[in-house]
Amino acid sequence: MAQPRVLVIGGGLAGLSATMRLAELGINVDLVSLVPVKRSHSVCAQGGINSVNSLTRQQGDSEWKHFDDTIYGGDFLQHQPPVKEMADWGPRIVDLMDRLGVPFNRTPEGFRDQRRFGGTLFKRTAFAGATTGQQLLYSLDEQVRRWEVEGKVKKWEFWDFLEPVLDDAGRCRGAICQDLVTMQFRAFPADAVILATGGCGLLYGRSTMSMVCTGSAVSRAYRAGAWYGNGEFIQVHPTAIPGADKLRLMSESARGEGGRVWVPKTPHDPRDPRDIPESERSYFLEERYPKYGNLVPRDIATREIFDICTNEGLSVEKDRLCVYLDLTHVPRETLDRKLGGILEIYEKFQGVDPRVVPMKIFPAVHYSMGGLWVDYEKSSSGGLVEGSPRNQQTNIPGLYAIGECDYQYHGANRLGANSLLSCIFSGLFCAPGVIAGCDAGGKKAAEESSRLFESGLRREEERHRALLVRTAGDENPYDLHQQLGNLMTRVATVVRRNEQLAAAYAEVCSLEERWRRCAVSDSGNWTNQNVVFTKSLGDMFPLAKLILKGALQRDECRGAHYKPDFAMPDIHATDPAEKRREAEAWCDRFEASTRRWLKSTVAKCGPEGEPEISYQDVDTSLMPPRPRLYGLVGGEEIEEVWKERQRAAGVGGDAQKGSPAYAGATS
Ligand SMILES: Cc1cc2nc3c(=O)[nH]c(=O)nc-3n(C[C@H](O)[C@H](O)[C@H](O)COP(=O)(O)OP(=O)(O)OC[C@H]3O[C@@H](n4cnc5c(N)ncnc54)[C@H](O)[C@@H]3O)c2cc1C
Repeated sequence: MAQPRVLVIGGGLAGLSATMRLAELGINVDLVSLVPVKRSHSVCAQGGINSVNSLTRQQGDSEWKHFDDTIYGGDFLQHQPPVKEMADWGPRIVDLMDRLGVPFNRTPEGFRDQRRFGGTLFKRTAFAGATTGQQLLYSLDEQVRRWEVEGKVKKWEFWDFLEPVLDDAGRCRGAICQDLVTMQFRAFPADAVILATGGCGLLYGRSTMSMVCTGSAVSRAYRAGAWYGNGEFIQVHPTAIPGADKLRLMSESARGEGGRVWVPKTPHDPRDPRDIPESERSYFLEERYPKYGNLVPRDIATREIFDICTNEGLSVEKDRLCVYLDLTHVPRETLDRKLGGILEIYEKFQGVDPRVVPMKIFPAVHYSMGGLWVDYEKSSSGGLVEGSPRNQQTNIPGLYAIGECDYQYHGANRLGANSLLSCIFSGLFCAPGVIAGCDAGGKKAAEESSRLFESGLRREEERHRALLVRTAGDENPYDLHQQLGNLMTRVATVVRRNEQLAAAYAEVCSLEERWRRCAVSDSGNWTNQNVVFTKSLGDMFPLAKLILKGALQRDECRGAHYKPDFAMPDIHATDPAEKRREAEAWCDRFEASTRRWLKSTVAKCGPEGEPEISYQDVDTSLMPPRPRLYGLVGGEEIEEVWKERQRAAGVGGDAQKGSPAYAGATS
């Protein structure tokens, strides 16, 4: 058989990891990217990458605890075997990146420095100042360039993936892409295609994500028949810098290095924050969650900040929602050494030095836990079978998804610094399986597929031409995008309500209809960004619809998906017997909700483009679900009742009992 050729779409951390590994294994790779790979959105990642390390091991940490924190953080919505495998690989991945030259911060003794991130009590996060993503990306880029020189990798930068090419049996045989400079089309035959195309934050208009994160590639795969998992789970990061053009992240590392979130107890207190005494401040996260403090997981911190501003009326400013994030107590030298990159961003865009004056921040859309549905093969030890072609494969044979564009690792809420890990892990880990899967294709089928490429090319050329000549439409794509973003931000972020979601779905359908009448202002056929944007706007509607429909149908609260109408009640009673009764009722309801809703949402694109939603059971074979309270003040009685029930039921699977970390697993 001829040497297989693999097409990787996307050159962020996931795409570069896969490309490097495939080339090392002797495979020829075409690497396609909208932007130069060094400008992929991964370059923006700030805070760090998680893995167990020698420091945390001394404190009782283990791969199992990392796995546990990730599953608990994700509200148990992830299949457990892939997450276990990822946590097991964490130390190897950080060591590998160290060897590849990532300038991780060091302690005075020369060890890698570590900081704490949300949703864990351990300092598990390795970091390179506050520009970790850039350092990781550049190191992988260097490796891929090496393979480029060797002739194993061919890069296609400024190319847009338009559609996967499927044969009559439904197997992926390659893709059609477009050169964004000459606007020419090209077919890329391949034995396997890997999508590593990142998140879809742009469909929310303003977010912390880069402007290329439109989700276009994923949407195109979805419309070609790939399933989409857990679309409704969108992460809203608690701390971003509000801006008229864009929302800029203030990384969790600021809290990892001691940053404290607070509001004045007097609404809209006009004093300089430095003049407000401690007794007149509310450190509301520390007060409600003393165990995790400012480092509760993102979904919880976001809801608390949103709540204190909107329901308790304690926003720092009257006309703009925000709270203080205070680093002024941390020595300047430490801040510059560990957080220089992000503090410069704040200073540049706000004109205020955050080393001296508390920052003003508010939540912003940041990450998509959902993504293309992918498969895995479970090993006898509870992790994954290395080299299985099922790992990371979508429901379309020969089409794989890795990195932020898959749905596999983060469940209902992603823990900070776990995405860089899942991107590199899925890229490295999938490679041998992708190669094994290539054999299944066969040469005859590949030859037959030339007719498929021709019709794919014709279809895309036709679509493009039809848009180019649409200069007389009455709709403006940029205006429609703003309307879509405002709508999605209003109804499908921190708080969700069924009547609003249903109305928004109808509105998105009408925006999509109007999009069909969009005019393009540039009819030239050279670097026509206007047409490219208009196309990608069209791709946002199917994703917006599956997010809204998934959210509408999921009548519960789980991780980032919060509906007040289905929220679990607080324990109000003070009388011990009554308190106990309330806690029992709480646990009954938790169990019922778990039975009904602990399921992955799977969206399939219907014949008219509408999402058809079904649900799949989640593999919880390694660790049973438990209430996710993070030491909430007032939640002790629930914890107690839950533990008694677990003891009575003899729950705690063998794998868990065998784990050295089991004793401390219920945080
Ligand atoms: C500001 C910020 C800070 C973050 N900090 C951290 C952190 O500290 N730790 C952490 O774990 N996570 C962090 N994250 C999340 C993390 O950065 C991302 O989830 C991760 O980098 C995504 O990597 P990726 O390889 O999947 O995709 P990306 O890096 O987004 O790359 C996508 C690639 O796909 C290409 N592409 C997309 N569409 C097409 C198309 N149609 N045709 C061709 N190519 C296409 C793009 O050109 C690009 O090369 C942060 C996120 C943000 C927004």
